[in-house]
Amino acid sequence: MKTKACFKCKQELPVERFSKCRGQKDGLHSYCKECVKDYHRSHRPGKPETPKRLKLYALYKGDTLECIGTCKELARWQGCDERTIRWYATPWGSTRHDNGITVYPIDEDEEVSI
Ligand SMILES: [Zn+2]
Repeated sequence: MKTKACFKCKQELPVERFSKCRGQKDGLHSYCKECVKDYHRSHRPGKPETPKRLKLYALYKGDTLECIGTCKELARWQGCDERTIRWYATPWGSTRHDNGITVYPIDEDEEVSI
């Protein structure tokens, strides 16, 4: 069985426990789904009630998850424009930037909504 170590909880987990992420080398997020969910729950900028259908993004600095939220929330968090976040999240914009920031969409079929 293929496993991967979660960057957050350091547990070796089956790859099914990780969300897919096309920008990462192995195609998976650095954090397991559980940690993404936890992170989302505890580090949410702004109001806690986001409509469930809003697309969520994970913003990484290097391999560290900095923030999870909608484009707007990430922009507020980073103090930049919403368009910048959208650009980071595009396939051609989601290569590593000089500032080490990468933004990956969280697959909608994943249960990150709380
Ligand atoms: Zn984890």
